[in-house]
Amino acid sequence: MSRAPQILADTLNKALELGASVAGYVPAAALKDCPSARAAGPQGFSTFSGTIVVLGLYHDPQKPEMDLWEEGRSTPGNRMLRRINRELVAWLGETHGIEARDIPYQVDEGGIYLKDAAVLAGLGCIGRNNLVITPEFGPRLRFRALWVDMDSEPPVRPAIESPCETCDHPCETQCPQHALEGGRYSRTRCMSRMEAEKSGKKGTVSHCRVCELACPAYRRL
Ligand code: SF4
Ligand code: SF4
Repeated sequence: MSRAPQILADTLNKALELGASVAGYVPAAALKDCPSARAAGPQGFSTFSGTIVVLGLYHDPQKPEMDLWEEGRSTPGNRMLRRINRELVAWLGETHGIEARDIPYQVDEGGIYLKDAAVLAGLGCIGRNNLVITPEFGPRLRFRALWVDMDSEPPVRPAIESPCETCDHPCETQCPQHALEGGRYSRTRCMSRMEAEKSGKKGTVSHCRVCELACPAYRRL
């Protein structure tokens, strides 16, 4: 009998123990033809054997510093996810003799389509705000992934219903860039604010979180 299901279950538990807020996995092959790949072209990461483990980290609205971007250092939240990945790589090697590696965040730097991976891993659904909405934390998470040299079957998890049908879309009406008009996400409009801030000042830059924080789905008190 294959050891993979138990090792992957243990890996997800280990990820939570190391500080991840949610964790799931998906066969790497499932990303080859994922919706973003069909819409925007192939992802940077081109290994389609093995398994992708997806980690999500809750970004508490009360701790905006987790999301402050810094040139050459990314954000504290992303650094926490990288640290968890490093520890998982070591643990998989030492405990199971299995190779694993951190996957870069950016698609054009060898990364994967992270939101697709999170959805395929059963962690959530894509909301009208173009974010992954999870039952545990709504859209208030950041994701990172790890490649594991072990084949797996697609996970069986209950379908997650979209909360957007019964919502009056504050994500769209409050977006300062009108980047969600008509329920269609405009990456160009969305990124223009961030790009302007990055080019206009030194030090840290805050991400726009309006559509994330306005979303009432699975909001924590
Ligand atoms: S604010 Fe409403 S419509 Fe927008 S993503 Fe959240 S639940 Fe969906
Ligand atoms: S991050 Fe900000 S600019 Fe981008 S879609 Fe959301 S609200 Fe609009």
